[in-house]
Amino acid sequence: MPRRFTFDVLIIGSGAAGLATALGVSDRARVAVLSKDALDAGSTNWAQGGIAAVLDEADDLEAHVADTLVAGAGLCHEDTVRYVVSEGPGAVQWLVDQGVAFDKESGPDGGERFHLTQEGGHSHRRILHAADATGTAVESTLVGRVLASPNITVFEQHVAVDLIIREKVGLPGSGCIGAHVLDRGTGSIDVFQAPFVVLATGGASKVYLYTSNPDGSTGDGIAMAWRAGCRVANMEFNQFHPTCLFHPEAKSFLVSEALRGEGGLLRLPDGERFMQRFDERAELAPRDVVARAIDHEMKRLGADCLHLDVSHLDADVLRDHFPNILARCRDFGIDITREPIPVVPAAHYTCGGIVTDLDGRTDVPGLYAVGECASTGLHGANRMASNSLLECVVFARAASRDVLRQLEGAEAPPEAPAWDESQVTDSDEDVVISHNWDELRRFMWDYVGIVRTDKRLERAEHRVRMLRREIHEYYSNYKISGDLVELRNLALVADLIIQSARSRRESRGLHYTLDCPETSPAARDTVLTPSPIRLDVRAARAWRTGALERRGGA
Ligand SMILES: Cc1cc2nc3c(=O)[nH]c(=O)nc-3n(C[C@H](O)[C@H](O)[C@H](O)COP(=O)(O)OP(=O)(O)OC[C@H]3O[C@@H](n4cnc5c(N)ncnc54)[C@H](O)[C@@H]3O)c2cc1C
Repeated sequence: MPRRFTFDVLIIGSGAAGLATALGVSDRARVAVLSKDALDAGSTNWAQGGIAAVLDEADDLEAHVADTLVAGAGLCHEDTVRYVVSEGPGAVQWLVDQGVAFDKESGPDGGERFHLTQEGGHSHRRILHAADATGTAVESTLVGRVLASPNITVFEQHVAVDLIIREKVGLPGSGCIGAHVLDRGTGSIDVFQAPFVVLATGGASKVYLYTSNPDGSTGDGIAMAWRAGCRVANMEFNQFHPTCLFHPEAKSFLVSEALRGEGGLLRLPDGERFMQRFDERAELAPRDVVARAIDHEMKRLGADCLHLDVSHLDADVLRDHFPNILARCRDFGIDITREPIPVVPAAHYTCGGIVTDLDGRTDVPGLYAVGECASTGLHGANRMASNSLLECVVFARAASRDVLRQLEGAEAPPEAPAWDESQVTDSDEDVVISHNWDELRRFMWDYVGIVRTDKRLERAEHRVRMLRREIHEYYSNYKISGDLVELRNLALVADLIIQSARSRRESRGLHYTLDCPETSPAARDTVLTPSPIRLDVRAARAWRTGALERRGGA
């Protein structure tokens, strides 16, 4: 039996962005936090390096701003960058106050201070970390705080299917008043309502065959926001990590760039080195250059993977410095002290997303977006390492302040229609989902990956439109499942990526096309606008019986 819930704030997503927003409002608001998997299953838990903030005396805010602008290849919004960087030390202090135990060291005066590391693109040491598992430290601390809060109710295994928008359902006024949510346990689709709804659903890297992300990175929030009438921006900028372990059972295991720093060599399947043909820094070239070179060689040779060879390095050094990688490869029968590691590049971070302002507000009243699903203007055409966790916390704090400012005057939303499953049946053809899922991720990898061309993008557009029609038909006729919701969203996000990539007639940052290899003098965001939501009386009536979303959804 479907259930109804009403809260002051509904937060969809339980990574750093969602949990920090929940904690930011929970003193004064009743909050629901949804996660489609376990609470800690998002990317946050997997973050390794750390979180960037200016804390060192030798560093300054202007340097962090300048580094971020350079990484973003002319497309960052400087006001956003300045805002995030200046809020950085406060955001980190907030995490420390919650109990996150960042590594410390003793300072020159004998007192303790945070141990700061330096990463690619940063001109100073400004990365706070908790060993090499910063994300776990952040996520587990915030989960602990959320579970201890009497005002926050957590719903694990609850998949938001679509947002409830007044105009779409024929209710007076405009804006978002909740979501229809699939309870994976019971299979029912429940109604969650709140005057403030926050999307914190993470990225969409699962749209590619190889990804460093967890399975849930399917762009659900971006797709839901688009269907709700929000603009999305810069979806063509997908960051790829150059080396992920290639093995059928090794899901998403990153092989650290530090191995190349220690002297690891990239080789073709026949053992030949190739990086020197692409960049004079060879294996030590920046991340996107290495990813592009590997992709180029894989496509040229039709190879499934290339190799990272560290077998010539001192085995004791490998054991001391890379015990995790050594152990993980050994699990898959690879002894890295003797044989090369099979690697492929992997989709790592979604730079674009739902357009928001500096308070995390989207185009739809009552709807916010924070974290990797948002496009705030911080990353531009390329994300600088460790700026993403920072963005999550800074915008979570901004959105919660904005919600609190309006909370007192907020009216409870009118009752939204329940989801109706009376017109649909159980599917006996789930193979359609797994087949389409594989096909989508494969052609996105081959045609819309690291190196693009007009022809490849055209082919991909043709395929994605066909797939979307097929998925839509399936969605219209059968009971929905979590997998179907994700596939439908992933196909829409793929379409948005392809449209954005096709419209950018230059190469910039992470978007590289052989047909327009130069960078234009003027930097412009790619902003896509959905068709306006109109009330159609027939459609609204149909929606009330659950049919419009099934028949007409984008
Ligand atoms: C391997 C790896 C290493 C990284 N290292 C770093 C690093 O060192 N520093 C850094 O700054 N960044 C790093 N990143 C990036 C960073 O981890 C992410 O950008 C950030 O954690 C995203 O946080 P988020 O809260 O936006 O989303 P996530 O943490 O991904 O959480 C998304 C949440 O949304 C939920 N969700 C999604 N869709 C739905 C739905 N339909 N219904 C209900 N719930 C839904 C999920 O269940 C999950 O709870 C790394 C990423 C990876 C994958």
